[in-house]
Formats: sequence, C-alpha cells, structure tokens
Amino acid sequence: MTSASSLARSTTVEKPEPRLNDADTIATEIVEKLTYSIGKTVKAARIHDWLEATTLVVRDRIIDNWFESTIKTYERQDKRVCYLSMEFLIGRLLRDAISNLGLTETVREALARYDVDLNLVELLEPDAALGNGGLGRLAACFMESMATTGVPGFGYGIRYVHGFFRQEVVDGAQVELPETWLKHGNPWEFERRESSYEIGFGGKVSAIEENGKLRSVWRPGERVLAVAYDTPVVGWRGQHVNTLRLWSAQSLDPILLDAFNAGDHIGALLESNKAEAITRVLYPADSHQAGQELRLRQEYFFSSASLQDIIRRHLAQHDDLTNLADKVAIQLNDTHPAVSVAELMRLLVDVHGMEWDAAWKVTRDTFSYTNHTLLPEALETWPIHLFERLLPRQMQIIYQINAEVLREATAGKQLDDGTISAISLIDENNGRRVRMGQLAFVGSHAVNGVSALHTELMKETVFHDLHKVFPTRIENKTNGVTPRRWLFQANPGLTQLIEEAIGPGFKDDITQLAKLDPHAEDAGFREKFVAIKRQNKQRLAHLVEERLAIHLDPNAIFDIQVKRIHEYKRQLLNILETVALYEQIRSLPHLDWTPRVKVFAGKAAPSYVQAKEIIHLAGDVARVINSDPTVRGLLKVVFIPNYNVSLAEIIMPAADVSEQISTAGLEASGTGNMKFALNGALTIGTLDGANVEMLEHLGEENIFIFGLKADEVARKRAEGHRGQGVIDQQPMLRSAIDSISAGVFSQDDPNRYANLMNSIRDRDWWMIAADFRAYWDTQRQLDVLWKDRAKWDAIAVRNTARMSWFSSDRSIDEYAHDIWHAGPKGR
Ligand SMILES: *Cc1c(COP(=O)(O)O)cnc(C)c1O
Repeated sequence: MTSASSLARSTTVEKPEPRLNDADTIATEIVEKLTYSIGKTVKAARIHDWLEATTLVVRDRIIDNWFESTIKTYERQDKRVCYLSMEFLIGRLLRDAISNLGLTETVREALARYDVDLNLVELLEPDAALGNGGLGRLAACFMESMATTGVPGFGYGIRYVHGFFRQEVVDGAQVELPETWLKHGNPWEFERRESSYEIGFGGKVSAIEENGKLRSVWRPGERVLAVAYDTPVVGWRGQHVNTLRLWSAQSLDPILLDAFNAGDHIGALLESNKAEAITRVLYPADSHQAGQELRLRQEYFFSSASLQDIIRRHLAQHDDLTNLADKVAIQLNDTHPAVSVAELMRLLVDVHGMEWDAAWKVTRDTFSYTNHTLLPEALETWPIHLFERLLPRQMQIIYQINAEVLREATAGKQLDDGTISAISLIDENNGRRVRMGQLAFVGSHAVNGVSALHTELMKETVFHDLHKVFPTRIENKTNGVTPRRWLFQANPGLTQLIEEAIGPGFKDDITQLAKLDPHAEDAGFREKFVAIKRQNKQRLAHLVEERLAIHLDPNAIFDIQVKRIHEYKRQLLNILETVALYEQIRSLPHLDWTPRVKVFAGKAAPSYVQAKEIIHLAGDVARVINSDPTVRGLLKVVFIPNYNVSLAEIIMPAADVSEQISTAGLEASGTGNMKFALNGALTIGTLDGANVEMLEHLGEENIFIFGLKADEVARKRAEGHRGQGVIDQQPMLRSAIDSISAGVFSQDDPNRYANLMNSIRDRDWWMIAADFRAYWDTQRQLDVLWKDRAKWDAIAVRNTARMSWFSSDRSIDEYAHDIWHAGPKGR
C-alpha cells in the first residue's frame, strides 16, 4: 500500500486540532517528549536529549502540514515533480524547520525556562552531508523552494550511511575521516518498509513469445531491496511540506539460510554486506567521474527504485501509464540518474506491456535533464562491457534508442559520419563506452544549463551536434539559493535590519529586497549595516581563534574563497597573489597597505593530487606569513578545515570580499557567489558562470570583474599558450613562483611544490599566469576602495538589495512554468 493511498483514506478521519504554538505549550511538549519518548527527567537530560526532544516537538507540527499537503496533492490529482539527484547537501535541519515555521523565538523561550540555550542545542545536530558541493546544495535549495512556492515535489536520492568525508589537516596535508551522521539516529526520517522494491543486477535476458509478439524478460542474477526513508521538507511559513525520499539498500534475505545452515556463516553474511555496500558511502569526487562499478550500481539502484515508486503511485490513481507525463515530471540532476531513461523504457515496455513508440513518447515527455559541467573529465561514460554485464536489458534498450535516434536525426538529411558519431549514445573512439549525457539528452524533452553563459557553451561544445538536430531542446535555468537559509537564518542581524528599513514584505516576496537600494545612500543605514557585518566577522574570528588559535582583526578586509578545491576554481591564483602581496609588504613596508585576512576552506577529492597539494600550500603559506613579524598583522592567512554547510552559514555573512575567480568558461554557475553577495560581500571574479548575470543585476560599479573571457581562454589554449612567457614579464609573479619552488614555504621538503609550479610555467592550462596581473590590479583597486568607507559600504548594501533574482524561488518558478508545467506557476 502506498503512503499516498493510506493517507487518502485518512481524509475521512477528523483532522487533528491545530496545535498551540505558545512557549508554554511548547515547553510542556518538550518535557513530555523528554519523559515519554526519550525516558529522561529534566534533571537527568543531557543536551543531546534536549535536541532530540525539541526536534520531535517541531516534527509533530511539520507532520500535520505534511499530511495535509500530501492529501491535497492526491485529491486534486496535481502534477508531481520528482527531482532525481544522487546528492542532497542538506546541512542541519532544526534551525531551518523552526525558522520556516516562525517558531524560533518561541522555542528559544521554551528551552530557556530549563536553562537550555537553543543555539547550543542546534549546534549538536549533525550536518547532513549527502553531497559534494554545488550540485548537491542546489538540490537542497530546490527542495526548500519547491515547498515554499507550493510545487508538489519529491526529492529522490540515496541514504548514504557515510556522507561526505570529514576533513582534517595533519602536518599540512588533508586527511579524510569517515563521516557518521547517523550515529545518534536521525529523528527527521521515517522508514517506510512498505515502500520497498527489488532491484536487479546482472543475469540474462530472454525473449518469449506472447500473443504473437516478442517480449523481453530479464532474469537478474542478483537482487537487492531498496527501502525508502522519508524526510519532510518544510517551506516558508510551514504552508506546504514536501517529501525527500532516500533509498537504503538491504539484502533480500538478511541471511542466506541455506548457506547459513550449511555452516557457511561468513559466506551467508557476505551477501548481505554486498547488498548494503551499495548505499554505504558517497563518492567524494566533484567534477570528476568515478568510474567504479559500485558507482554505476548506486546510480541504477536509486534510479530504478524511484521509477518503480513513481509508477506504483501513478497506478494507484490512474488506469494506465499513457498519461504519466501529464501527472509526473522527472528532473534528472546531472547524468547520475540518466540510466533512468533506459529503465523507464524497460518498465513501460517489458513490465507494463506498452508499445515501444508509445513508451518512448511517454519517456521523453516525462524526463528533463540538467547539465552541470562541460569539463571533459567529468562527462560520464561507462565501458560497454561493464554496462552489459551489470544491466544487460538496459544495454539492449540503449542500443535500440540509439538506432531510432540516429534514424530520426538522419531522416531527410545527409549527416556526415562526424555528426553521427558525435550524437551517438555509444562512444566508439575510447574503447566503446555509453555516453550518459547523450542518453539523458535524447530521453528528455528539455535540457538545461545552469547559467546563461554555461547554456550557450553547452550548445557550442558538449551538445554541439545534438543541438543542431534538436535546436529547441536546450534552454537556460540559472541557479539560485534559498534566502531562508542563506539570509534569514545565517544572518538574522541583517534580516532584522532589512525589516526595520523596508518592512517585512521581503520575507514572503524576496524581490522586495530591491526597496533596500535607496538606503545605500543613507549614512545612518550604512552604519548599522556595517555594524552587523562587523559582528559577523567577529563571530568568524572567534571560530578561527577557537579552532586554529589564530587571531584575526575584524578591521581587516575579510577576503574569502571557500568551495571545493579544484584547479579550475583557481585557489592557486589566490595563493600566488597572497605570496606576492606578502613579498611586497616586506619589500615596501613604508607603503600604506590595507590589512587583509585571506580565508580558504574546501575539500579535495581524495585521489586528486594537485588539489591536495594546493591545500598543503595554503597551509604552508599561512604558517610562514602568520609568524613573520615584519608583516605587522597586515596580512593573515587561514585554511579552515572541514568546509560544510554549517561552516558556510558562518562564513558567508562574514565576508567583505568573495573570490569567484574560476578560469572563464569552466564554472557552470556557482552558487557560493550568490550566497556571499546576498550577504553584502563584494565579488572579485571572472566573467564565468552566474557571475555574468550578477554583473547585469548589480551593475558594473558594484562587482569587480577581471581577466580573460571564455572565448579568449579557448583561443589561447588553441594557440598553445605557455606560462613562462608571461611569468618573465611579471616580476611579482615570477618571484612568488620562484619562492614557492625554492622551498621558502616548505623548508622541510623544498621540492614539495615543484610539479605545481612547473605546471604554471609550462602549460598554464588554467590561465593562472595569464590572469595574474589583472587579478593583482583588481585586488589593489579593492584596497583603495576600502579606505573610502562610504563608497565600499554603499556597494555592499546594493549587493544585498540587487541579489533577489538569484533566489532559488525564481529558479523553481522558471522550471515549473517552462519545463514541468506543475505547481501554482506551472499551470
Ligand atoms: C554553496 C556551497 C557550495 C558551492 O560553492 P561554489 O562556490 O558555488 O562552488 C559548496 N559547498 C557548500 C557547503 C556550499 O554551501
């Protein structure tokens, strides 16, 4: 029985009384939970117990609205949006939930009666890190915005036992430690044993004749069970609550009795270990394809479970699957769930007996696909032999799709061999591989990029030939971030100030932030704005002091680059500029240097050698600079370990300068850029990803753009650009590179950075040498601006006032209207 139909029956049952939301009631309920659910007295309760009790009380309130939302969607037969994503980088939920329900102050007061501090309670919640970075965080922002804007949304993903690894830095090097977010249980989730599905792997396909027609039957060699865990996702003001459904793998028979009884205890348990391994750990590679078989198993596992669930729900309400696309939109978040295209075809044709052509139309009308990267090393492909062994029927279907797409593409046209091999789902040039991007593209009615520039580059590069065949399929949907988490919760001081200035309307309609614009000219307002920025900087300084024993001066520019460590994101450019600045401060101590704090944070994929060297270098440079008395506190450098959502919530509001300096053409959108600017940081950045649109919305006086543009990068690469020529012309850059190469920052191992520095001298693939001078000059321009506080602060205010377009509510409205045709804006 599906939960939807069991809920539908309950409509005849009387609705529960609305709960009272005063502090007395909440305090009483918390103590009740403490007593009867946790089994502790107020006196004996530890702070973890208070967290659990508070979560349960908040959860009760969400559940009431959850049932109501689910029943409404069911009764009105509203179209549902299913967001399939391998990653959801959620972060903590308690503060988000309380804030969206409007209960923050009430819960604070209720807990205070027992001398319990809500802030401390919130800090104990583990940070749910079921994602790597931007892609997973986007999925989390979208879930919140769907709930806020009233789109009936279902997130589908994987319940990893171990999320993104915990990062420590030991002797300068990154160390990866297992993450254990489920250690104390997870009060937000509900296990749905009744929603479980069998997922097959391997085995054989045979064709049987039925009523004169051939039907394929797949007999998997191996089967595991996908069990659903549901988490409610509450939107702003608690009006609408959606579901995040994460799948956990279990063995069909926890113990193989035959083997067990035959005395093979270990062998019997190995089987269940193998099943459970599928959802044990998140792959920690961002912008890089993980080619292991287990990864493909994960992808198929959650795709198949989600589709089976979607079909079961549909058939509980409708006679057949021909109208699936009218009732469900399925968004593929990158190619990780792209095997869904073949799997839906299999379910429709083999299991539900639909004709191929009809099934293909349903499939295409149901799916849409978001591309997240143009990096060749990140484009997902799988060796044919692996695919065929693991998913033999899906492989047949992919061949058939390929044949028909090629026939459709060539109909009435003369396509050359180059075009045909470019649009083929099978890459014949690299040992025969399945191209997941092509599969997602041809199986979808809409394909989108995540910023205007990225979408244009998609048309010119990865999907150049498919775009010519299907010229209306690609469209743009620029990313956004939820202002609830990234402004209201992360920056309550600024939120209150905005409310005092322009009234509370912006909380329900973020576009009203624009009313703040004229306040940029108001010295009194700016003073309050800066006072809040200062408090946020002190909060970050306090954290750094506590964790790293490094003192930061809040009068300095807080210049921050936090994101995954990747060569294209160019943390190395920032570090080189830091070293150059250090050397200049030492050589020219009489100049009027503007004090700066350089903050870095981010994780490197465990196998990404260069990224790990960059982390090591940041630490080495920090140690030398921070302990050099001649710097006189004018420059401090910190690398804060274990960047995650909770740390981002403290860092974003504390920034004066936001570093968004990727090699142009490489960052699909960025969302960190949006969080920073929304909180009043000035962006120094390249014309890349959504920075381009930030420039349009902010105006060119309010953002600091430098460097090569995407087409210039492409041209230079084609011309065989080398770094050495530029370095010879740039004494500051040459000196910085030479110092690092000579071991000035790594005396224990002078050659540590030889490869890293040589890669700039030789290939300079990421245009670090090429962009250095423009970057340096723009940084010095910011130094000068800092001294004109009225001007700087006015720009900061205008950043906050003009960023509302980058709300994920706007992104979701566009998806709902243009692609999904679902939700209040989609009809
Ligand atoms: C927003 C966010 C990201 C994405 O940052 P980019 O700068 O866009 O790469 C990554 N990780 C966390 C924890 C985030 O909050």
